[in-house]
Amino acid sequence: MANGVESQNALGARVAEIAYQCSDVVVSVQPTLATESAFSTQLQALAEGQAVSRVSRKPAEVIHVRNNADPLLSVFRPIREGKLTSVTTSSSILLRAIPHLYKLANYPVVIHVALEPSQYPDYSNITAIRNCGFTFLQSSTAEDVQDIGISAHALAIKSGKGVIHFFNLANGQQEAIEPLDPQALEIVDLDTAHLFQSKKSSESAIYVDEGRQANLTIIGGPDRDTPAITQPATNGTNGTNGTNGHKAPQSKAPGISHESSVASSNRASSVSTDQDATSEATSVEPITIRPVTSEDIYQILTTTWSRLSAITGRSYAPFEYHGPGDAEVVILVFGGDEAEFSSAIKSSSLGKVGILTIRLYRPWLGAKLAAVLPKTAKKVAVLEQIRRKTTKWGPLFLDTLQSVRSAGGSPLEIVGYQLGHVHQASIPQALKIVTDNIQQEKPAQNVVIGSVDGPQETSTAVAQPQVENAYMKVLSQLFGHRLYIANQLGAESTGVSTEVTATPEYGFGALTARIERRQRLVKQVEGALAENKFSSKKPVDVLSKWLVNSENSDQSNELASEVISSLTADKSPVASQLLGEKSHFYKESQWLIGSDAWSYDLGNSGVHHVIASGANVNMLIIDSTPYSKRAAINAEQRKKDIGLYAMNFGNAYVASVAVYSSYTQVLEAMIEADQFKGPSIVLAYLPYNKEDESPLTILQETKNAVDIGYWPLYRWNPHPEKPEDRFHLDSERLKKEVEDFLRRDNYLTQVMRRHPEFANNLSGSYGSEVRSLQKRRAKDAYEQLLEGLAGAPMTVLFASDNGNAENLAKRLGNRGKARGLKTIVMAMDDYPMEDLYSEENVVMLSSTAGQGEFPQNGRSFWEAVKNSTDLDLATVNFAVFALGDSHYWPRKEDKIYYNKPGKDLHNRLVTLGGSPLTDCGLGDDQDPDGFQTGYADWEALLWKALGVDKVEGLPDEPPPITNEDIKIESNFLRGTIKEGLEDTTTGAISASDQQLTKFHGTYMQDDRDLRDERKEQGLEPAYSFMIRCRLAGGISTPQQWIQMDDISTELGNQTMKLTTRQTFQFHGVVKGKLRPAMQAINRALMTTIAACGDVNRNVMCSSLPQASKYHSEVWAVSQKISDHLLPSTTAYHEIWLQEENGSKTQVAGNAIVDHEPMYGPTYLPRKFKITIAIPPHNDTDVYAHDIGLIAIKGSDGHLKGFNLLAGGGMGVTHNNKKTYPQVGRMFGYVPKDVVHLACEKIMLVQRDNGDRKNRKHARLKYTIDDMGLDVFISAVEALLPFKFEPPKPFKFASNIDTFGWQKDENGLNHFTFFIENGRIEDTPDFAMKTGLREIAKVLKGEFRLTGNQHLIVSNVADAGLPAIKKLMKKYKLDNTNFSGLRLSSSACVAFPTCGLAMAESERYLPELITKLESTLEEAGLRQDSIVMRMTGCPNGCARPWLAEVAFVGKAFGAYNMYLGGGYHGQRLNKLYRSSIKEDEILEIMKPLIGRYAKEREEGERFGDFCIRIGMIVATKEGRDFHDNASCDTILI
Ligand code: SF4
Repeated sequence: MANGVESQNALGARVAEIAYQCSDVVVSVQPTLATESAFSTQLQALAEGQAVSRVSRKPAEVIHVRNNADPLLSVFRPIREGKLTSVTTSSSILLRAIPHLYKLANYPVVIHVALEPSQYPDYSNITAIRNCGFTFLQSSTAEDVQDIGISAHALAIKSGKGVIHFFNLANGQQEAIEPLDPQALEIVDLDTAHLFQSKKSSESAIYVDEGRQANLTIIGGPDRDTPAITQPATNGTNGTNGTNGHKAPQSKAPGISHESSVASSNRASSVSTDQDATSEATSVEPITIRPVTSEDIYQILTTTWSRLSAITGRSYAPFEYHGPGDAEVVILVFGGDEAEFSSAIKSSSLGKVGILTIRLYRPWLGAKLAAVLPKTAKKVAVLEQIRRKTTKWGPLFLDTLQSVRSAGGSPLEIVGYQLGHVHQASIPQALKIVTDNIQQEKPAQNVVIGSVDGPQETSTAVAQPQVENAYMKVLSQLFGHRLYIANQLGAESTGVSTEVTATPEYGFGALTARIERRQRLVKQVEGALAENKFSSKKPVDVLSKWLVNSENSDQSNELASEVISSLTADKSPVASQLLGEKSHFYKESQWLIGSDAWSYDLGNSGVHHVIASGANVNMLIIDSTPYSKRAAINAEQRKKDIGLYAMNFGNAYVASVAVYSSYTQVLEAMIEADQFKGPSIVLAYLPYNKEDESPLTILQETKNAVDIGYWPLYRWNPHPEKPEDRFHLDSERLKKEVEDFLRRDNYLTQVMRRHPEFANNLSGSYGSEVRSLQKRRAKDAYEQLLEGLAGAPMTVLFASDNGNAENLAKRLGNRGKARGLKTIVMAMDDYPMEDLYSEENVVMLSSTAGQGEFPQNGRSFWEAVKNSTDLDLATVNFAVFALGDSHYWPRKEDKIYYNKPGKDLHNRLVTLGGSPLTDCGLGDDQDPDGFQTGYADWEALLWKALGVDKVEGLPDEPPPITNEDIKIESNFLRGTIKEGLEDTTTGAISASDQQLTKFHGTYMQDDRDLRDERKEQGLEPAYSFMIRCRLAGGISTPQQWIQMDDISTELGNQTMKLTTRQTFQFHGVVKGKLRPAMQAINRALMTTIAACGDVNRNVMCSSLPQASKYHSEVWAVSQKISDHLLPSTTAYHEIWLQEENGSKTQVAGNAIVDHEPMYGPTYLPRKFKITIAIPPHNDTDVYAHDIGLIAIKGSDGHLKGFNLLAGGGMGVTHNNKKTYPQVGRMFGYVPKDVVHLACEKIMLVQRDNGDRKNRKHARLKYTIDDMGLDVFISAVEALLPFKFEPPKPFKFASNIDTFGWQKDENGLNHFTFFIENGRIEDTPDFAMKTGLREIAKVLKGEFRLTGNQHLIVSNVADAGLPAIKKLMKKYKLDNTNFSGLRLSSSACVAFPTCGLAMAESERYLPELITKLESTLEEAGLRQDSIVMRMTGCPNGCARPWLAEVAFVGKAFGAYNMYLGGGYHGQRLNKLYRSSIKEDEILEIMKPLIGRYAKEREEGERFGDFCIRIGMIVATKEGRDFHDNASCDTILI
């Protein structure tokens, strides 16, 4: 096979190529979007390769649609827009598509149909739709599929009518197929195609017939038999000249003199045809417009085939006869193997027998059939491959009968056969059976040839896309056995195909019937009670109660079982009669699952029928259009808003929900829909491109859609108890249409009144024009400012992630100004690109993000510069400075990423004709002064090139503001926080307040998932705040748990994070809700003060479920230390807790000044962390903190004192060897009563000796290493009235939690839950948050948060156990059956909220572990604990450096890998690989796990193993962390 296509789908690939070449749009119908069809791979390849379609003259658009998503709906839009559209599909969709087929038949659509099942196709799928108006062409071999496939397009374009081209894929399986012959494509008439493409159609309805009809324009009068040109035109109600929309063709149009293709250029309606034509009429030649006839089809086809024959030498006809010219028996074959039958007849010894095959099935040209039969024929055998016969005579039999009868001549005998599956080798035998039978005097009719069942074949099942199950799960969780989904996929329904039962229309019919049956039952019960012919009294009592409550689901369901048992016991005839309908005593929650496909033509859709019926039916409609694809498919134009439609109707409950945005709101909406008496429509958003889309992508798409208002979350109740409950807006931004509706009906004021904070969002109108306008205004304003200044202009543009490039740019701007230049400084993406060519001097600074990418605020600018083809910079001088780190990518092949954005930009500007002022400047973090080293030289060259290097008398530059300045200026942490909170024009607070609020326990963040989209829309980033509580030892009462849960739901993002430092953290608290949240935390008797910032933070303590008494003694010390080291400022109370009219308001600048006896006005140089561990559990990672206390038990079993470690710490900067993680060093033993003093004095020595100039070198670990351990200890002892004693013996066994139930020494019970990465949230699969809340309601003990981000329900007395266990079971919280790896894992938050994150962590680690679990299973290590940790950056919040294996984010999707940490947190790990991605991680981990399983020694831990086998060198302490890293050698 030379260059042929060879694959199982070779034939499919060929058809796909033809469809692509002959169309503007190809609708590729697939079993699921994740499962390829016989055509889709090829289509995808062509589209991705931007192959140019012959008729489109550009790449064709390929739309992928699932076969159960009403695929032919996707044809209407493009075909009506004048785009030649074809479909590739299997025959399984055809029956359901009948209503569309009738309408599409009058458009030049081509549907290429692969018959199913391919081993033994069922032709009933074709015969059933034979009258839908399409032309049907069949191809039977790999060779003719090309010719007939192209003919189908040529015919459709010429006739204006739809063509179905059907074939059997199996025919191409064994054969090699020659490449597509481009010459054959020439039979497609491009002029007519372009004529069609030049106009849009005016039809819009999908569910009603607008009477469109394909017409032909005949030039030269009615005698001319070959149609000159096709001209489909609309006749009908919405069209032009008919009243009922049927067949009112124009018989005459005015004469048109030019060529036919131009003459009939208007195809939108016959009225406009008239007008256009009239205006151009110059000729006398008559023109006739009339509907396309069968004869026309035949004529066009004959012409097409003769042209084809001239090109290829192959000939075709509507019916093709193979066999002797004097045949007496003719066998007409309509089945998958007709080609084999034809060739078999040639070599058979059957004598005067021939085979007839069908090329053109519809229109059925009976006369042509009769004409092709040999004159000698006496008998015709009709073989139809129809698997399930429903009528005695097959459709082809009847067609044939009719044809030969009407042909006249001597009567022929017709005998019908049912053609089953015939193996190729048995075809001669089958032919013999057929001929033997037919030659009988009285041949038997309907003889079956071959096997009717055919070979076993897996058919393509209709599947509910996996992702859509999310909503089904919520429904079944909420309504349990009450749930009835009328159109459930896979539901059994006798005799009706699942494809039909799954349709909403079928479901609605079924539901209506069900509702009526229940109503009948209610009537029956009423009658039975009135007659009272029961044999006992009980049924009367319970039935009366039931009758009263029959519409109340809870109560009628409660009574239903009682009713049934009383009727069963009664045994009277009336009781038995009622029992016949017993399932209807239960009141179901009845749902229909609809499709957003209905939004195309709402007035005729299932939604309309449901609403109009007024029935109490709930409908869930899932919209899966990804937000990012909305523009590409022009969703707004195509779809109508179902929600608005339903709200306008006035009688329906309507909700718009998104499970990946607010699970709680989904629950509320579904409950409300269920309770609403009348139709309810719940519109549910679930955006995905493929069914196996990652949840993270779905989440990000959903967030953007909700945030921007494309998919607002709301609930609408037309008959609320209180008027203000009519409309609830549950997200923050509404789309315009809904807003208009509310405004019109005056509900907007209600919404505004309830949510004044939404006012801006509601009335805002956003879009990309706004963004360009903003850019324009900013630049113009700048220029105005500079007007009148002398000196050359210099525009400084920056792209900056962490502020370095931005600060440098601003400083450069100031320095330029000082040198007399007119300078403008702005972010690259804020700069209006259209001005670039007119700049005189432009200077650009860019740092390096990710894998050598531009930082976020320079990406669009770079894309524009990179892709511009007409940007001429011939008059522009430019200079570029790049910032990066030459060691960031240790591998040789990655070195190109170093300063890549800057270098690329420089080169591109040269290419565009710009004149460089300097070479590209390179700033390297590895230089002695970091990037400043290279920058200083570059800046000097720049001034020189601009001729301003010799300027005298430059002013002194003010030193940059440091954190220390901010603290001093803040008046004990007040700053301007209070004023900032009152500013409603922005969701942000000032930069210096952002530093100060950390001391108050809150950080400003922005949602990084939304950054790009919001920027695109001209919005500021989605700012919100993270709030961290202070919770010494991680103990919370049940009441506090409920209060925390409330805060997260009402004021945060509906989730809570249990942190690695045993406290609650809330994310997504917007500025306006910050004070209420702080106040709510305070009401729960908690605080957030000093939870972050340069102070002592939350003090941790082992959670120790095994020994409650001992635990409470140790925990009391953690509380005492925490209180002792609390800052004293009253700013916290003033800012957050005091009411507006409170008596004491001390804001910045007031006379009263606070006092911080311990900290002083500048607090500590850096954060300070203390933890307590109780051996043998190192679950708080005692070596990782500034102070680590190891509890020592006395011989009396009580707490005696602590061994004190100091100088542990995790924060590191990638590639900066001056930074390193460190383990705490032993100071000695301290008795329990004075341990708080020891902590205080260590803190004070750090306060006075820590580095306040360089925050990267300010932690206690560096102070101790710089001063020397002994010197530091002496300095502490000098402040203490005692000395450290020698440490007492202790032993740690592990640093992970023990999951499941444990009993303590008091007989109380404790259960440790596995909370993956500490995230408390509800999902459709796991209602964890709700479950824990329910437990909190009944718990008499307490909750303990562990240092591994898990949770213990503690101190449960035996009596309370059953209730807790029941709830745990109900909410699946009792599951601890996870792999040892998962149970020992932890991850920090990272994306989307952490501003420092370079890579995903919490959202990714679970996925990575899943990918490793099968390897663990195979290796027999499922239960073994391996401590694995991940963080999104080297700040190290999840303490990765102490894990046996760790991954630390380097760039998006890339991690540094560390190995060799100590199992119980006693040893740091070491860098093994740098910047590796998932595939490389798996490549390393999988064999390593295998080796560990086989080669480990008894009891040997994974980290130790890696060191023993030489994978990694052990790290002794922080200062040798960077030595001997093995990241350039592969050892396994
Ligand atoms: S480790 Fe880094 S990415 Fe993770 S939460 Fe901490 S600062 Fe953010």
